[in-house]
Amino acid sequence: MVQDFKRGVDGAKHTGGVNMSLGKAFCVVCASEDELTKDRLCVPCFKERTTLSKLPDTIQGFRCPKCMMYMHDGRWGHHESDEYHQGLVEEKLEVENRADALGIAIMTEEIDERNTRLSVQVTGLIDGVQFEDIHSSITRISNSVCPTCTRKAGNYFEATVQLRSSGRKLTEDELTSLRGTFDTYLESIDPDPMFFISKEGKVAGGFDVVLGSKALARGWTKHLLRRFGGTSKETNSVVGRKDGEDLTRLTISYRKPAFNLRDVIRRQGRYWLIFAWQKDGAVISSIDRQERTGLTWRDLEKTSVESEAKDHLEVEILKRDSSAADFMDPNDWKVRTVSLPYDDDGSQATLHIALIADEWVALPGMNGGEVNE
Ligand SMILES: [Zn+2]
Ligand SMILES: [Zn+2]
Repeated sequence: MVQDFKRGVDGAKHTGGVNMSLGKAFCVVCASEDELTKDRLCVPCFKERTTLSKLPDTIQGFRCPKCMMYMHDGRWGHHESDEYHQGLVEEKLEVENRADALGIAIMTEEIDERNTRLSVQVTGLIDGVQFEDIHSSITRISNSVCPTCTRKAGNYFEATVQLRSSGRKLTEDELTSLRGTFDTYLESIDPDPMFFISKEGKVAGGFDVVLGSKALARGWTKHLLRRFGGTSKETNSVVGRKDGEDLTRLTISYRKPAFNLRDVIRRQGRYWLIFAWQKDGAVISSIDRQERTGLTWRDLEKTSVESEAKDHLEVEILKRDSSAADFMDPNDWKVRTVSLPYDDDGSQATLHIALIADEWVALPGMNGGEVNE
């Protein structure tokens, strides 16, 4: 600028007093020659004509009174109250799209159970000009029954899983452990609004669980098969038509085998442990030597359990030699001797023992051998 001025003076000696602002940029609104933005507005005029953000005075939220889920972005889910307010603000806040370096701070003050006063500070830069807004809004949370609860209330269901035992009645313990896997299974998978129990209860011969989703029924059954072995059978029944397609309900009959992993069975005069489940039966592992074989469900049904896994004991070895060990019989506190299992490596401090045909037998597998789960 200084140079231009000098040259001007040098080049036109007699024309002193020319308009110095000629050609210089100025605000198109107020003609101010202060620093201008891209739009050729001075900062005050730019600020007057530009809005960083907008937020409604009241923001409507919805909460299901039955399950306390909140509706956010068109979806139902569980949220902490603060997190929910933040989500609503982010959903409703309109921000000028040229803005960057955006900062949002929210202060909440509960008015009553349904209404919360929010003070929302929004800061950002537009074309390099710093903006700050303070919005004060009220969120109002109204009741709205979510689709899951609506369906539950209407006893909606798609599938029934029947828990049964093959050949005998399910015991109370078995029932508890079978049913218990439902909750852990549900926690392990992605949530879905249709994943709920519509009804459940004891029936003759077992326990029925009525579910909101066929996919859930199938998924849980697979989980049961992996965990407890057994068989499952699917039946579909047509209950009506909707949009030109058959509306069906699924029934899955799950049969838990009358055996558990590590139960001892007798087969061809020898004793075996149930080692693992497979699709068509079990893998059994011999107690007296390293040997494994497969049994079909049909084969299994012909065998009997000699010692159930839940009755096995873990005892401390009091004294051992190369082939036998002493332990204290917890039934009468007498010291007894038992042959060491074939896979004993001499380092174990305890033994797993089972009472088979009135004799204590030390079991292989858990004493340094393979542990199956
Ligand atoms: Zn201006
Ligand atoms: Zn609900």
